[in-house]
Amino acid sequence: MLKVLVIDDSPFIFKAVKKALENSVFDVVDNAGNGKIGLEMYEKYAPDLITLDVTMPIMDGVETAKALVAKNPNVKIIMLSAMGDEALLSQAKEIGVSGFLRKPFKPEELLNKAKEILGV
Ligand SMILES: [Mg+2]
Repeated sequence: MLKVLVIDDSPFIFKAVKKALENSVFDVVDNAGNGKIGLEMYEKYAPDLITLDVTMPIMDGVETAKALVAKNPNVKIIMLSAMGDEALLSQAKEIGVSGFLRKPFKPEELLNKAKEILGV
């Protein structure tokens, strides 16, 4: 099973990610409510994939993505955000985020994106 960590302050999104990915090769292991906890959980679980919110308290998704890439340049991140402006998209790409989906996303969109990024 491929481990997925959800970094998002919305429990609703955690449930949606779980539902989209769990009957496949993915095991959605935990939910971090902000980037700071997300970095701690990254160390704990060593996930194969991270879904990352942008707007969160304490440490937002952009700062979290930078910190994750600094830890592991090959980290696989799908950014999930209601905001999808060009500036954010290009910033995410520049940082090294593997994929981007606009909220609300369709379950199969996330599943396909996750499979594509991990090559499964
Ligand atoms: Mg949020």
